[in-house]
Amino acid sequence: MSSDHGQRSRLRKPPWLKRRIPAGATYREVHRILQRCTLHTVCQEAHCPNQGECFSQGTATFLILGDRCTRNCRFCAVAHGPVGPPDIDEPRRVAEAVQSMGLRFVVVTSVTRDDLPDGGSGHFARTIREIRRRVPKARIEVLVPDFQGSNRALRTVVEARPDVINHNLETVPRLYPKVRPGAGYHRSVRLLKQVRGFSPHIPTKSGLMVGLGESPEELRQALFELLEAECRMLTLGQYLQPSRDHLPVERFLPPEAFEQWREVALEMGFREVASGPFVRSSYRAGELYETLER
Ligand code: SF4
Repeated sequence: MSSDHGQRSRLRKPPWLKRRIPAGATYREVHRILQRCTLHTVCQEAHCPNQGECFSQGTATFLILGDRCTRNCRFCAVAHGPVGPPDIDEPRRVAEAVQSMGLRFVVVTSVTRDDLPDGGSGHFARTIREIRRRVPKARIEVLVPDFQGSNRALRTVVEARPDVINHNLETVPRLYPKVRPGAGYHRSVRLLKQVRGFSPHIPTKSGLMVGLGESPEELRQALFELLEAECRMLTLGQYLQPSRDHLPVERFLPPEAFEQWREVALEMGFREVASGPFVRSSYRAGELYETLER
């Protein structure tokens, strides 16, 4: 499929976005474990630019509920299309991989499953419980979809007691129809607020991409609304166009601008902020959590 976006001239990647991917022994071991346990990662499916770094450090973000999404966000490289029933053995295999990789901090995310009556929340809960059972000391962060605004689905995840619940706003409200058709900005803000209503002890986290055409005022307003929803952990990263059929990059922010946004967000009231061109919502998630704990 070609698109208008594909026809537009692409901005040239600035030098700070070019990086080599190391592939040492740990990187290969992570691959082996993922293959043995037949698991997907968002690192691979979303073509994350940090895959080399994260796999080399022995970490990855598990993608549960399949490798196909029922939505078609215009920024995301994860495939969409026909989906199968949840793999009931997957939670056990995720826990096995966590143990084999020796992870102390685990991030689990999923494709969006609007086809399932519970949005996949039960599968999230089973995965959390399996990890806890097998690796009791592991801390678990879940990066959840919006469950179409279902409080019941969200409660199912909250009751499994993950250590962090992450849900990304991704972008500012004006750009939602273009960037996240099928999602709702205010629905996402409400989800974060609802987590705190269900369990004030579970910290929430959210992330936005920059470079999609948002203005600084719009970004600041989104941060303000996250704070109002009691979200205190934030990630900000550069949007990168995964293919010609995805939205083009409107602007590349230099690393200094990310540092400034980090300072702004901390001054506004966020407790932990990861901000940089390559930051993604699960990037160094364990470190961010540990600093929050201190
Ligand atoms: S930043 Fe997250 S998604 Fe990207 S490679 Fe690292 S763990 Fe995977």
